[in-house]
Amino acid sequence: MKKTTGTDRSITSNWRPATQAVRGGTWRSEHGETSEALFLTSGYTYDNAQTVADRFAGEAEGMTYSRLQNPTVAMLEERIALMEGAEACRAQASGMAAMTTALLCQVSAGDHVVGARAAFGSCRWLLDHLLPRFGIETTVVDSADDDAWEAAIRPNTKVFFFETPANPTLDVVDLAHVCEVARAHGITTVVDNAFATSALQRPMDFGADVVAYSATKLMDGQGRVLAGAVCGSQEWIDEVLLPFQRNTGPNCAPFNAWVVLKGLETLSLRAHRQSENAVELGKSIEARAPKLLHPGLPSHPRHELAKRQMSATGPIFAFDVGDRKTAFAILDALRLVDISNNIGDARSLMCHPASTTHAGMTQEARDEMGVTEGLLRINVGLEDVEDIKEDLDQALKAAGL
Ligand SMILES: *Cc1c(COP(=O)(O)O)cnc(C)c1O
Repeated sequence: MKKTTGTDRSITSNWRPATQAVRGGTWRSEHGETSEALFLTSGYTYDNAQTVADRFAGEAEGMTYSRLQNPTVAMLEERIALMEGAEACRAQASGMAAMTTALLCQVSAGDHVVGARAAFGSCRWLLDHLLPRFGIETTVVDSADDDAWEAAIRPNTKVFFFETPANPTLDVVDLAHVCEVARAHGITTVVDNAFATSALQRPMDFGADVVAYSATKLMDGQGRVLAGAVCGSQEWIDEVLLPFQRNTGPNCAPFNAWVVLKGLETLSLRAHRQSENAVELGKSIEARAPKLLHPGLPSHPRHELAKRQMSATGPIFAFDVGDRKTAFAILDALRLVDISNNIGDARSLMCHPASTTHAGMTQEARDEMGVTEGLLRINVGLEDVEDIKEDLDQALKAAGL
């Protein structure tokens, strides 16, 4: 394969993010295709036996098996790393494959992990159920309480794991502060950046060690495939993540990688426009839904912090309408916005977290996290914001608000 414009780091790392999003990692075959090629292959063939022996010995570059390398997946990994400002990235089958891999690859029985209380339901399941089964202790903290992180540290604390903004309560973590506390204690920070992506927030600029993604969300951005990614230093990826990934196989399929590559080309445009639409829609209903949470609105307790660490505040907000009956009445009255638990999509989508994304948690854990029976979460899409406003307005009225 011909290595052309997108793969030489001495050139690509100097490009600005918009250029990296379109061209970073592009690796052209002998046909010189403009759009990235889709390599649907599990294996590779070799000119002779020595070539494959050298590759397996790590003495020659080249593909050997798609659980270890695939050209389409490698293009996606390089593009995500460049956009993130990370030395390296490995794509994963889904966001949860990414989170599970990022945690399990580095912890052992006897270690301790501190995680944010407000988190995506499955991320909390990893902390509350999976890690303890293997003798890894976990503590959840109120992630917006800056002192809580340091207070939770024990001699065996290995990892801090959190999302910001968090799903679905939009809690914002002070990245610079929490990453500094971790660094001072030799703790690795793993940041789930799905709600923002590198287009809006780059945790490594604030000292994060590892950034993990559901690429299913804003990166694909059009609701097509499941995918994930983990970014880190070259040394961490090679020595900590890769031995785990290569032997357990949570890999991203080439087709899904290709879809996400195309999504990244428009990520920044979509993320910024959807953020603007979210702020405008939020303002239009704030008076009728007082407990509305979006980091882009002055009413959010960490609005100033969010403005400092994000270039825009993302497409998602949550609001509390009091009880499940009213929440369901609003969902059922929608005519444009779909009832759907996905986020990051170009379509506006709304869901009731307590009965969907966070249904697997106990009522007590939901209460503690702020996932109330009246909470609705909306992903604001790319439709004309006037149409979204009109739809939400009539749905609120239909529910008596
Ligand atoms: C959706 C989501 C995940 C899980 O990603 P999948 O691609 O659905 O596996 C993890 N973290 C956050 C914050 C999410 O929103």
